[in-house]
Amino acid sequence: MTTFYRLLGVTADSDGAAIKSAYRALARKYHPDHNGGHPLAERRFRMLAEAYDVLSDDAKRVKYDRYGVTALSRQGDLPGFAGSVQRLAKNLETALESRLKGVKRRGADKRLPLALTLREAVFGCTKQVVVIRRGPCDSCGGGGAERGSAVEACHVCDGRGLLREGSGLLAREEACAFCDGRGRVALRPCDACHGAGEAERHLELPVTVPPAAHPGRRLVLRGYGENGQAGGEAGDLFVELSVEPHPLFEREGTDLRVSVPITITEAVLGGQAEVPLLEGGSIGVRVPPGTRGSQVLRLRGRGGPLDKGGRGDLLVRIEIETPVVDSSVARELLERLDQVSIHPHRNAYLRALSQHLESTGP
Ligand SMILES: [Zn+2]
Ligand SMILES: [Zn+2]
Repeated sequence: MTTFYRLLGVTADSDGAAIKSAYRALARKYHPDHNGGHPLAERRFRMLAEAYDVLSDDAKRVKYDRYGVTALSRQGDLPGFAGSVQRLAKNLETALESRLKGVKRRGADKRLPLALTLREAVFGCTKQVVVIRRGPCDSCGGGGAERGSAVEACHVCDGRGLLREGSGLLAREEACAFCDGRGRVALRPCDACHGAGEAERHLELPVTVPPAAHPGRRLVLRGYGENGQAGGEAGDLFVELSVEPHPLFEREGTDLRVSVPITITEAVLGGQAEVPLLEGGSIGVRVPPGTRGSQVLRLRGRGGPLDKGGRGDLLVRIEIETPVVDSSVARELLERLDQVSIHPHRNAYLRALSQHLESTGP
């Protein structure tokens, strides 16, 4: 059990006086008041204070020597420090492994949702996306220290970033909590990056969406994921497409569908319907006299792009709207219309109905 001794820069056989004077010197050097009052400076100071609290108390020191940090923390002798060391060790384990052992590690992949309009998805487009990448902090140039403040090799881990705890078969390496595994300590941590030396950068990137893109499709931006470690390559960024519903159009494979409501009069007498085009604008489509409901007109080459070139079709579904009648004039006109118009289908139906009723009896 050496961490606390290392924190104070003393050895396991140092006596009380040596521990006290070592602590005093370090406490002066690392006091947050001398180091910009930064939370990181405060945490370091607290670590020193907790180590001193244990090593300056004979009973706690004996316990620590025999059972280590965990025993002290279980017995409530050490509320803050042990937990923070263990948490930190876990977080830094993988990063450290590669940094210290030089193990190349590929950065993690990232996902980025991208919503497209139907038009963008059908015809393809180029969209700007914002990618967050980590790079050296601008304020401190990556050193993690406020300008003009010193960066020193960590006295606790001798600049290795790792601490060996235990001995023999039980020995294991842990991240040095004092320097966060960096091996270097900025006395006055950089305010912009809190001593990490890294900052997030917002990068605008163009993403080219090919035509006929469907929801759920993933586009890959190679190398725009998390940074790799120890020279490992960066991960990839997967842009995941979704498509917003369109108020007029629906997709059907490479065809497009649109519903166009017309009036009864237009259906009877014929007319011109204005049909929208997904690429923009509209075209006039002739509605022939006597058009029946739910008829589908196929406009060739007005749908989505096809793989082999050319375009699919636009299917125009004509819907005859039953008018809402809320005046006596309209009611009279409609009743009059019924009397003067011919309904061959209805007449045929009525004839067949009466024959049916006659033949089957009451
Ligand atoms: Zn260290
Ligand atoms: Zn910085």
